Amino acid sequence: MRLKEKVAIITGTGRGIGKSIAKVFAKEGAKVVACDRDLGTGQAGVDAIVANGGEAIFVKCDVSIEENVKNLIAKAIETHGRIDILVNNAGVNFVKKFEEVEPEDWDRVINTDLRGTYLCTRLAILEMLKTGAGSIINIGTIHSLACMAGAAPYDAAKWGVVGLTKSVAVEFADRNIRANVLSPGLIATQIWEDIKAAAPSIEEAMKYWKANIPMGRPGKPEEIAYLAVFLASDESSYITGSNILADGGLTSLLISKEPFESKSIEGQ
Ligand code: NDP
Repeated sequence: MRLKEKVAIITGTGRGIGKSIAKVFAKEGAKVVACDRDLGTGQAGVDAIVANGGEAIFVKCDVSIEENVKNLIAKAIETHGRIDILVNNAGVNFVKKFEEVEPEDWDRVINTDLRGTYLCTRLAILEMLKTGAGSIINIGTIHSLACMAGAAPYDAAKWGVVGLTKSVAVEFADRNIRANVLSPGLIATQIWEDIKAAAPSIEEAMKYWKANIPMGRPGKPEEIAYLAVFLASDESSYITGSNILADGGLTSLLISKEPFESKSIEGQ
């Protein structure tokens, strides 16, 4: 077991990537402190972990609210006495023309994706300093390398997460607290369901994304979870301040297919 006895807080575990990280961390021996703003789905995920022999508790918490985060940290300390790992996974996004982005749209994304990451990180670090060790994994996105039209608040928040992570990594490197960003490409969570629902057909959606993702498919939440295990564990002991991609090659692709491909070889 790669995370045996480690106490891990994971945010946004009600579904998607966070749910998978909680499940895989518990399988790897971690004592999981799961949180989500939705009590129903969050508790159900923890119940499933416990039913499978894992160790997990659920704390209802909106990461953008300081009092909620204080309670989350307090519950982790009350139950386990320390925090070894923090995964800032809770995130929201939407696509809207920039001219139509109202301040409340901006705040909604920034408050969860960036402020929530700051709040959880600061309070977890105060505990990590007491034990003299910690690993923080901030779930970023490929949007932290390049941007998409219509996603300004999300892009800004996630670029901010990268800056925050690097700053924390530098400031706490000499105190044995590491911080890294894990940036997924398109992963088959709710967003993938929404993409398929909005497309003229599932086949059309698959055709488009096959052409744009070199590996030809969206990633699975477990493929993010196992990378998070690596970053949480001592296997990654020399890695801090990094932004590590798991994107099936998406950001390595220049353009999906040259439409006017020349048959000639240059110079001949
Ligand atoms: P989902 O929307 O499927 O799940 C996110 C979970 O976080 C939901 O349970 C959600 O609850 C919860 N949540 C949202 N806001 C808060 C909050 N303020 N406090 C506590 N919990 C909250 O997202 P994904 O699993 O797809 O994404 C997880 C992370 O991965 C996000 O940070 C996202 O930006 C990132 N990511 C995802 C990619 C993808 O393709 N799926 C690609 C790149 C990055 P509720 O149901 O109430 O909203």
